[in-house]
Amino acid sequence: MMEIRIVPLVKGDGVGPEVTAAMVKIIDAALDKAYAGQRKIEWKEVLAGGKAFEQLGTYLPDETIEAFKTHHVGIKGPLMTPVGGGIRSLNVALRQGLDLYVCQRPVRWFKGVESPVKHPELVDMVIFRENTEDIYAGIEWESGTPEAAKFFKFINEEMGVRKVRFPETSAFGVKPVSREGTERLVRAACQYAVDHGRPSVTLVHKGNIMKFTEGGFKKWGYELAEREFGEYIASGRLVIKDCICDAFLQNALLKPEEYSVIATLNLNGDYVSDMLAAQVGGIGIAPGANINYTTGDAIFEATHGTAPDIAGKDVVNPCSNVLSGVMMLEHFGWQEAASLVEKALEESFSEGYATADLARLMENGHSMGTKEFTENIVRRIYESR
Ligand code: NAD
Repeated sequence: MMEIRIVPLVKGDGVGPEVTAAMVKIIDAALDKAYAGQRKIEWKEVLAGGKAFEQLGTYLPDETIEAFKTHHVGIKGPLMTPVGGGIRSLNVALRQGLDLYVCQRPVRWFKGVESPVKHPELVDMVIFRENTEDIYAGIEWESGTPEAAKFFKFINEEMGVRKVRFPETSAFGVKPVSREGTERLVRAACQYAVDHGRPSVTLVHKGNIMKFTEGGFKKWGYELAEREFGEYIASGRLVIKDCICDAFLQNALLKPEEYSVIATLNLNGDYVSDMLAAQVGGIGIAPGANINYTTGDAIFEATHGTAPDIAGKDVVNPCSNVLSGVMMLEHFGWQEAASLVEKALEESFSEGYATADLARLMENGHSMGTKEFTENIVRRIYESR
């Protein structure tokens, strides 16, 4: 039976239309090759960012959020951050609007890609970063405002807090970390590990210092894993461990092979994602997804920005968006098509064929424009056996 998935698509700003065009071509080719018309994506353009503002006077139209909700999926190119007023960040607004509580980042090395470490091939991790809580929840007050003064008065007089060193000039932030928030994140990470035959989940935290918030994350995480995945743990199919974040950043460099699935809080996750991506030379090609594993809603995205300096020049590397498309295929369970794209990229990089940003660092690099690189990947997909 023929399967068609409707995927709302935001092309994005700056280089967004170029990386989106490449992604659509490559994903369509992989579907065609893998399923000969039996599985297809119907791309449905929806607006967000600068294009939405120009056409509709709003950066994030309700119809766009509705389309993501209706189809439970979406993919987007980079979006400019509106300057001044209203929305702080479109990406944050989208995550909150759909309660996409997992920021998922796979980190692996592609042969041929220049890396700053000796053994990038040992890095193969999937990061589950909590997306809705922590010091990133956006609850903060600027120094010198009546709100900051009121907050200090409350914690000082009502809560007996005497530890604020310079109360007059302090800004304040609040770090909410809940049991529910932790449990749904750790559940998603453990389920992913079990489903994908990955050996371990590491809880990365700073519970040694922040005992109730990050310490709570660690405690609730272990308890959840034991309660819901006890049988996998008992049989040795899944190991749950934890690591203090600073030690993790060292270990990830020194013995990356010891880590597989990482579950962590919002701020740690931000640092960990970029460091690991850099370790495999993939900061420009790292894909990402924001997922609500309870409803199944997911938005896949390029992780770089709009790169206005190179927009429209046919030089942008489309791989971050292409690999986010691969994550989407995996999310649908369309693994054969996903593997075809990964294999074509592996081949191309190992032969040195890449866009300029990667090719110039490769020993045997052949630099290609965005369109030429896309055609080269499409050809490899069709020629694959
Ligand atoms: P950027 O990622 O757009 O660019 C940083 C540098 O990296 C630039 O020199 C750019 O040319 C280069 N670069 C980025 N992606 C590339 C690619 N795929 N191929 C080749 N080179 C690439 O970061 P920025 O300049 O800090 O931000 C520009 C705009 O993008 C801002 O409005 C920012 O808010 C927004 N932004 C959006 C997202 C998102 O939507 N996910 C993420 C980050 C920044």
